[in-house]
Amino acid sequence: MIAERLDQFMARANAIYYASHDPFADFTTAPEVSQVFGELIGLWAALVWILLGRPDPVLLVEAGPGRGTLMADALRAVSRAQPDFAAAAQVHLIETSARLRAAQAMRLKQATWHRSLAEVPKGPMILVANEFLDALPIRQFVRRRDGWMERYVAEGAWAEEPVEPPALPGAPPFAEGQIVEVNEPARAFVGAVAGRLHRHRGAALFIDYGSREIGPAGSLQAISGGEKANPLAPAGTADLTAHVHFNALAHTAKAGGASVQGPVTQRHLLVELGVRERTERLANAANAAQAEALRSGLARLIAPDQMGGLFKAIALTSPDCPALPGFSDG
Ligand code: SAH
Repeated sequence: MIAERLDQFMARANAIYYASHDPFADFTTAPEVSQVFGELIGLWAALVWILLGRPDPVLLVEAGPGRGTLMADALRAVSRAQPDFAAAAQVHLIETSARLRAAQAMRLKQATWHRSLAEVPKGPMILVANEFLDALPIRQFVRRRDGWMERYVAEGAWAEEPVEPPALPGAPPFAEGQIVEVNEPARAFVGAVAGRLHRHRGAALFIDYGSREIGPAGSLQAISGGEKANPLAPAGTADLTAHVHFNALAHTAKAGGASVQGPVTQRHLLVELGVRERTERLANAANAAQAEALRSGLARLIAPDQMGGLFKAIALTSPDCPALPGFSDG
């Protein structure tokens, strides 16, 4: 029996899944729900650029751009509202999927693509990432009476192996049976972003589902054909994700030299950035069907029991950065 460590299983499963499916047939992300999402992120970036003292050029980086919708909506909005920022911005996209790169290239002619952050040139940077960290593979550790075990996947079932205790910032005492998740690639990514923000000016916005702490049962989930599926089903038959642990993310960012604002709920961020007003303006100028789609999209993005409450936003900044739009105490 071959046992595969959970993060290795998850990485392999998602690589197969993304290469063989259109992931957006199975789930919908905020930029696909309403054009206003990407527009407001673009305006957020433009306001941050002004707060940073208008560095020119500035790197406008997106990690995991999906279909390129967020960046396309953002660039359209800023080219009208803040053309100086649009002119200064150099668009860099971090994407590993060849299929999605092709989709992005249809909409974003002026971008440069990279496989990792390390390939992106250094300099003042504004980075955005929506539903990127949740796609990165996690490890799961289980507290047993005699010590820690790590979870493996063996022929569609869980297996465990003894392991050294995971390094956890500010770890509370653990109950027997409790699962602790560690997202090593997310830590590495956020740590590298923080290092860049420390050395150069800039800010990064991460939006994802998750909470400050992850519950004792862990958060691994699988979606297939739009439905919840068994995460241990054969690799490549479902999209595997895990919730983002925002306290751990903030800890890593600070250790890497960045300041942190938030987390706030997606609802808080979008309402403060004017999502209601922008949606109403568009709806008033649209036909009845478009207006209805815009208004129901708004509800989905900000309803506390939908994306508005489940999703959180956190901002990392260089140490001298003032309070950012969308992150006032909520
Ligand atoms: N931000 C988009 C897509 C979210 S899906 C949206 O909101 O619609 C996750 C995205 O991250 C996809 O584009 C996927 O191909 C990309 N991705 C997953 N793992 C990655 C990795 N290790 N490096 C770069 N991109 C990755």
